[in-house]
Amino acid sequence: MDKNKIYLSLSQQSGFEKEYIQKALETNWITSGGPYVDEFEEILENYLKDGSFTTALNSGTSAIHLALILLGVKSGDEVICQSLTFSASANPILYQNAIPVFIDSELETWNICPESLEIAIKDRIKKGKKPKAIITVHLYGSPYKIDEIHAIADRYGIPIIEDSAEALGSSYKGKKCGTFGSFGILSFNGNKIITTSSGGALISSSIDFKEKAIFYANQSKDDAAHYQHSDIGYNYRMSNICAGIGLGQIKILDKNVIARRENHSFYKEIFKELESVKLFEVLNEDYYSNYWLSTILIEPNKEKGIDAENLRIAFENQNIETRPLWKPMHLQPIFEKYPYYGNKIAEDLFEKGLCLPSGSSLTIEDKNRIKEVIESFFN
Ligand SMILES: *Cc1c(COP(=O)(O)O)cnc(C)c1O
Repeated sequence: MDKNKIYLSLSQQSGFEKEYIQKALETNWITSGGPYVDEFEEILENYLKDGSFTTALNSGTSAIHLALILLGVKSGDEVICQSLTFSASANPILYQNAIPVFIDSELETWNICPESLEIAIKDRIKKGKKPKAIITVHLYGSPYKIDEIHAIADRYGIPIIEDSAEALGSSYKGKKCGTFGSFGILSFNGNKIITTSSGGALISSSIDFKEKAIFYANQSKDDAAHYQHSDIGYNYRMSNICAGIGLGQIKILDKNVIARRENHSFYKEIFKELESVKLFEVLNEDYYSNYWLSTILIEPNKEKGIDAENLRIAFENQNIETRPLWKPMHLQPIFEKYPYYGNKIAEDLFEKGLCLPSGSSLTIEDKNRIKEVIESFFN
């Protein structure tokens, strides 16, 4: 990777990853599943607590797909999904030939809006189909309005799949993100707070679901000596080598959370006197964010040439990577034909927002370079 480039979300190594990989090679555990996969799951379960059962998979996307399968989502079913998110939250709905119904954000957490959610549920029921599931997201590591959203979901008896891909290490009222929904999912992609190079996990509340998830992830092999299949199978299990990387990575999860939260404090200091910039912050102390990415909203000023895109370019000119917020799913060509409920809040956030460099290994020099760009841009 480019040595002088400051990346948006660069991973950090503990130094132990190499040893685990070496040991996996020496013991010839080079396959999907294996002792490191079991060990990684156990550590995650202890970390998440609340009786969580964790199934390690080859990606967060696979985890969402398996959650939909385990909830019985089939062709023609409707599944509600937060619009302001990465496409991986919504794509598995299409894998099942189901219909996504997108919901706007609210301004306090940037996540799924309770009012729009309830309006959507009522309207879909009126139109003849009760949604089969709700996919919620803790965007950029910050919890959504968990009490309000889950109360609505419970009232209508609709299960929640909690996309916690960006929120490992975050919590709400002291309970870890990923453990609130009927299912939770994690991602260990290269840009996430810890990585297994590629990987994910499905969190559920029963051993039954865990066993079923492993069954589907291992090509749905029935109990027979010959390969017998009465269900569609998937090749979704995490490999032993990747789990080894995960065992090295999980040692620095807490450290990474601290580092990312320190990045957020650094930005808070920089922006505290800039009226045209608002750093995203959690609503109150019930919400604990890993601040996977620090994000800002910039009030555009045409005369001065100030807006999110121009700031992004100013960073790019100094070899510093920043990125607009996720483009809402209901505006994406692949999804725009599906129903959407909301008030254009996600669109407005997308217009004004920018994700700032937030890697766990940002140095003082990096921060000085970032600060210089910001100061010269706004002065
Ligand atoms: C990264 C991410 C995913 C997908 O995880 P992968 O492991 O890359 O498949 C899903 N949802 C959100 C919100 C993400 O950021």
